[in-house]
Amino acid sequence: MPTLAPKLRTGGCLCGHIRWEATGKPSFPHLCSCGQCRRWSGALTVAWVDLPLDGFRWTGPGGEPAFFRSSDRTRRGHCPACGSALCALDDGSDRIALTIATLDEPDPIMPGRQHSFRDGLPPWWRVSIEKQHGRRGKASAAAKGGKPPVASP
Ligand SMILES: [Zn+2]
Ligand SMILES: [Zn+2]
Repeated sequence: MPTLAPKLRTGGCLCGHIRWEATGKPSFPHLCSCGQCRRWSGALTVAWVDLPLDGFRWTGPGGEPAFFRSSDRTRRGHCPACGSALCALDDGSDRIALTIATLDEPDPIMPGRQHSFRDGLPPWWRVSIEKQHGRRGKASAAAKGGKPPVASP
């Protein structure tokens, strides 16, 4: 299963102007296909994960991203240089939502079952999440077999 244990995580935009690091425990990895996420990101579906603001900081040369107020209580952050869609901040929240796509190591952050606003998607768009424990199961079975995977000569 994917691990959501606290550790140093990093991410950033396409051009490197905006970078961040976070040490807290990720939570609520999920998908959203609402109209705002779609317009903002240019993608039909956005994968999100929350991280505590405690232990989070902007580390790139650009400092904070540029923010656009997308609703009464939410601002969305993007790189002013390259446009990467990076984060969303609810007013007064102690957490920041980050786009999983812009993490340096997104592999362990697998979205759960939550897929908001799925109903509005075009009928030809399907999102499926491969179960990581399936792949890991195969790997551990191979390991138990005792033979290392050696290529035939
Ligand atoms: Zn950038
Ligand atoms: Zn959304």
